[in-house]
Amino acid sequence: MKSKIKIQLSTLIFVLIYTLSFSQQTSNQKNMEKKITKSDEQWKKELSEQEYQILRKKQTERAFTGEFWDHHEKGVYICAGCQSELFSSETKYESGSGWPSFYDAINQSNVSIKKDVSLGMVREELVCSKCQGHLGHIFTDGPKPTGLRYCVNSASLDFKKL
Ligand code: FE
Repeated sequence: MKSKIKIQLSTLIFVLIYTLSFSQQTSNQKNMEKKITKSDEQWKKELSEQEYQILRKKQTERAFTGEFWDHHEKGVYICAGCQSELFSSETKYESGSGWPSFYDAINQSNVSIKKDVSLGMVREELVCSKCQGHLGHIFTDGPKPTGLRYCVNSASLDFKKL
């Protein structure tokens, strides 16, 4: 009797793990499906000149000039290119850099990291997972609990007030 219960329990656990991994796979597939690809010309039409230069051409706005480095409202920062939710005001902090800085993303799957070897430095480039727009860079001198600094251009972001 006991061994029967044990077998049933292990079957149940197996089914549970299988279901969980399957639903994870389908949610990953959904994320993949949601990816946006547009021609350079399309982006140029849709974005402002500054948004285009930063999001699509990886330029950087001058420190202390952007809309959000000194912005303190409660809400969600979204991608200026595709409106994907990227950062919460809850994880925004004063880094002193002159760019909006966050110690975490709203969801790890919404941002991606790429190696950037431009300007004679090795840096981790931060891009929007959905539209591949350039957001900024990620550094390891951030505050607890992550120790990370997501250093983002204001021009790459729009803001949704809560
Ligand atoms: Fe985007």
